[in-house]
Amino acid sequence: MDSPVLATRRAVLAGAGVLALAGLAACAPLSRPHAGQESASPGPSSSHGSPTPSAAPTPTPTPTVDPAAVAARYAGAAPTAFGLDLPGIRQTIAPAAALRVALTFDACGGRRGSRVDARLVDTLRREGVPATLFLNSRWIDANPALAADLAADPLFVIGNHGTRHVPLSVTGREAYGIAGTASAQEAVDEVWQNHVRLSELLGAPPRLFRPGTAFYDDIGLAIVRDLGVQPIGFAVNGDGGATFPARTVRREIGQAAGGSIVIAHMNQPGSGTAEGIEGAIADLRARGAAFVHVDG
Ligand SMILES: [Zn+2]
Repeated sequence: MDSPVLATRRAVLAGAGVLALAGLAACAPLSRPHAGQESASPGPSSSHGSPTPSAAPTPTPTPTVDPAAVAARYAGAAPTAFGLDLPGIRQTIAPAAALRVALTFDACGGRRGSRVDARLVDTLRREGVPATLFLNSRWIDANPALAADLAADPLFVIGNHGTRHVPLSVTGREAYGIAGTASAQEAVDEVWQNHVRLSELLGAPPRLFRPGTAFYDDIGLAIVRDLGVQPIGFAVNGDGGATFPARTVRREIGQAAGGSIVIAHMNQPGSGTAEGIEGAIADLRARGAAFVHVDG
């Protein structure tokens, strides 16, 4: 599906060189995650609030997902791969004749990751730039009013950035020193607890997931798909975990190849991200680019 832009994407990533290795530090803060702290809602809430009149056409039904069955299906399964770019992780948007770029911003939560880059959000709104925002459960805890405000704004699509903000693994594998989920059940919980919460916030289930640190193993990846959600990665590391200076953010994103999913952060005010994005928006528009949501 993404092969037409793979070569370009790889070129971009190669060009980024060491920058790509700068990682997703803003995405990996920190405080030791508190296992099991998040309160799970008792079950998925129905998005069908009232009976449908018998004469009305039924909208596309939402497939029934049984998270317990998914956890059972992969219990004891041994992963064979771990990374940011495994087959099946979506890193690009659908090919199109026009130059299109999907900006995405993670809100990671936790002790050092629960702030809001208001300048960035204001820029997106002022410029009318659609973006896909991946919200972690802990960030929503810290910013409930803003989370609701963003969820209600059609400029933004909201995706799931996990419950504890850890790599999605079934063996506890680490990325950036953050231990991943250590079983199929933990991986299901990492996705599903925030999925239920976002379903309530959005009035419909989120369709997109990107884990804390953006690392998956292949079993975690399969679990996301079986939960009815699209696993998302990125083609362009736009802000190096909110560590890049503004000029680097501008260069990395402003040069993005068509079809790229760009990752950056919306939770690190004072970083170079907002200023860099402002320049990159101008540069991309000068190239004729259109900004689009990540399509699920
Ligand atoms: Zn993150």
